[in-house]
Amino acid sequence: MSARLVLLGPPGAGKGTQAARLAERLQVPAISTGDIFRANIKGGTELGRTVQEYTSRGALVPDSVTNAMVRDRLAQADAAEGFLLDGYPRNTAQVDELERILADLGHPLDRAVEITADPDVVTQRLLRRAELEGREDDTEDVIRHRLDVYAEQTAPISDVYAQRGLLVQVDGIGDVDEVTERLLAAIDAR
Ligand code: ADP
Repeated sequence: MSARLVLLGPPGAGKGTQAARLAERLQVPAISTGDIFRANIKGGTELGRTVQEYTSRGALVPDSVTNAMVRDRLAQADAAEGFLLDGYPRNTAQVDELERILADLGHPLDRAVEITADPDVVTQRLLRRAELEGREDDTEDVIRHRLDVYAEQTAPISDVYAQRGLLVQVDGIGDVDEVTERLLAAIDAR
């Protein structure tokens, strides 16, 4: 099976960790919009300057900016045989845009994989990560806002993919290796 995948789940569910592991196992690039934005902010690029005012307060970057970036990234050679998108799509307009991008590239999405996790657990994880990594958007207020944005704009995406028969859900609570194995099994099963 080809692996053109999106990984869904709330902030703190372990998407980044699992995306790296799945990418390695499936031999496709993990493409994280959040990582690309952070690298650009750190590198002081024009894109970085544009997005920082949004990422620092946990708001979504405007779709026009994010969509163009993802379109460029997915057109690169290493994504031709598959990819794992982490952090995109994040609202229903981005779901539609992704469909157009993939139609233009000639291959549809294979699956949307959702990592589920209890909101209290993810908040605790994010606060702990804040101490370790010092991410600008890991303060308590901004975390709360990111979780609200997720609930309002991103969570409804699961239903859209479920209606299209593309959604698989995996419990994100437990040992990191165990969750990886669950994800691989869910990706294979269909
Ligand atoms: P998390 O999932 O932990 O909230 P990410 O690393 O995925 O964090 O994203 C960090 C920030 O980057 C988001 O809060 C948002 O500002 C911006 N961002 C990432 N992906 C998108 C997207 N698809 N659309 C709009 N903004 C995005």
